[in-house]
Amino acid sequence: MKLLVMGPPGAGKGSQARRLVKDYQLTNISTGEMFRQSANRGEELGKKAMEFINDGNLVSDEITNEIVRRRLFEEGDNQDFLLDGYPRTVSQAKALDNMLKEMNSRLDAVVNIVVDKDIILERMVGRRVCKNCGYTYHVRYQPPKTQGTCDQCGGELYQREDDKLDSVRNRLRIYEEKTKPIIDYYKGRGMLININGMQSFDAVYRDINKALRDVT
Ligand code: AMP
Repeated sequence: MKLLVMGPPGAGKGSQARRLVKDYQLTNISTGEMFRQSANRGEELGKKAMEFINDGNLVSDEITNEIVRRRLFEEGDNQDFLLDGYPRTVSQAKALDNMLKEMNSRLDAVVNIVVDKDIILERMVGRRVCKNCGYTYHVRYQPPKTQGTCDQCGGELYQREDDKLDSVRNRLRIYEEKTKPIIDYYKGRGMLININGMQSFDAVYRDINKALRDVT
């Protein structure tokens, strides 16, 4: 299955994506994660990307499409994957269509997690991420067993620079302006599955699973 999971920042798409990847045995392709890893490795591309990311801005379509293209072609035609955080602009969505066409492939479904704006702010500012494995928590709604430590791998938890208040506001504005139009793009192609993201993690996951049963 070739799946795209989208939603506003803080919709919980990263956590849902991680579980879907595990249960459906998909390759996780997260552009945000790829940029952070590249920066951690000290690469120029990653460092350049982090300048945009830390201010809550989008990385250019050119850099982003290139990093995805490399990854998709590395994985090969038959690889099942889940895209998390890509595409984020209509231009990226079109680039993705072209890449998949080149591979004689297509997306099977686009899962859109819907969350109201006021809920998003609270969720994002409380989010903590593991430095080591990228697993995400929330100080109130999904706390780790030991404060500041990842349940999965024992790594140190931190607040991403782009989860701080000013940056979050900027990300939401950009989402409305640049990413939301993609919803219509996929709706027009009959691929969009809207999921209510204002429920518990398990309830959201159950609804996604139910919807995917009709696709596979
Ligand atoms: P995420 O981990 O998906 O929340 O992504 C973190 C940040 O990486 C975003 O706020 C953007 O600055 C950048 N980023 C991730 N994916 C993309 C993309 N598809 N296009 C542009 N920038 C992106």
